[in-house]
Amino acid sequence: MKSWKEKQKKPLTKGDPIAPALVRASMYHLPGDPDGYPGYGRSANPTWDVVETALGNLEHADCVLFPSGMAAITASLVTCVNAGDRILIPSDGYYATRVLANRFLAPLGVRVDTCRTLDFEHADFDGCAVVFVETPSNPGLDVIDIKAVSEAAHRVGATVIVDNTTMTPFGQRPLELGADIVVASDTKAPGGHSDLLMGHAATRDAKRLEAMRDWRTFSGSIPGPDEAWLLHRGLQTLAVRLDRMCQNAEVLAERFLGFSCLKTVRYPGLLQDPAFALASRQMTKFGFLIGLEFDTETTAETFINGCDQLQAATSFGGVHSSAERRKRWGDDVSDGFVRLSVGCEPVEGLWASIEDSLKRI
Ligand SMILES: *Cc1c(COP(=O)(O)O)cnc(C)c1O
Repeated sequence: MKSWKEKQKKPLTKGDPIAPALVRASMYHLPGDPDGYPGYGRSANPTWDVVETALGNLEHADCVLFPSGMAAITASLVTCVNAGDRILIPSDGYYATRVLANRFLAPLGVRVDTCRTLDFEHADFDGCAVVFVETPSNPGLDVIDIKAVSEAAHRVGATVIVDNTTMTPFGQRPLELGADIVVASDTKAPGGHSDLLMGHAATRDAKRLEAMRDWRTFSGSIPGPDEAWLLHRGLQTLAVRLDRMCQNAEVLAERFLGFSCLKTVRYPGLLQDPAFALASRQMTKFGFLIGLEFDTETTAETFINGCDQLQAATSFGGVHSSAERRKRWGDDVSDGFVRLSVGCEPVEGLWASIEDSLKRI
């Protein structure tokens, strides 16, 4: 299997289409010796290859494409743990990772421990096969030191997996900071148009890479070529969309500070945010998510529903700004906590609509 570096060198021949081919195929013409050729649609697809090469360029590492972020997270965990192993996952990160570990890995004999994101730096990793971190955490936006956690985890021989969904490779580079595997939901900013689910895992370790590829082939957790193709289209504008989203978020976060209906405003790019110092060192952008804590559930809902530029929806990272109250899914946050995903809209129009809604509370 060629690495992302070798693949990116493949030139087009005259007359080739610039856009990648969307290949829907379960079977390939394969007489005789099958070695080195795609065999079957569950193990190989040329459209996945194109997307994995593009993701490889962003991660500077080989990538395995999955049909969702959770499929990538599952692959990373399943290929790193055995019965009897201990894993440490965040108690305040993306909830589905906890459900997966507690409901499906624990009954197979994996000891699942959780701790708050901020406590990872002082946590006891003894006996851990995997330390799984998410920073900035979704939805609380707490930030922890990936380098420090990786060093401590490696001292006890643990594999470090970082969920980089909230930042993407343009905002944070966990593999460079010592992580062994990066996982991400490409459903969010990389897809960017709220019309597909996809995910990937990236690693520079050939054995881990092969294990995750094999997991994909034999579990059948494979991406659809159509969605993979759409993700490739999204990736081409990720850098410009993300720039705009993060710039917009920086502007909005400052302006939220003046409103008394808000108990707290969390944004790693605010000077007074507890994450600011570390975020400035560790991340190359401050992200497009803002945490807004209203005093009550009603005020939070009134704000979301009263703002004509905000989609009331779960998930984040789309070109359109969206918001939701995370408590409705049982996250460990207060009733009035709203996660705001800032989109690509012209910022003054977006702010005018947000300010209107805030003033009506
Ligand atoms: C959304 C999300 C996931 C899961 O991704 P899906 O594509 O929905 O499966 C995992 N981690 C984080 C931090 C997320 O926000």
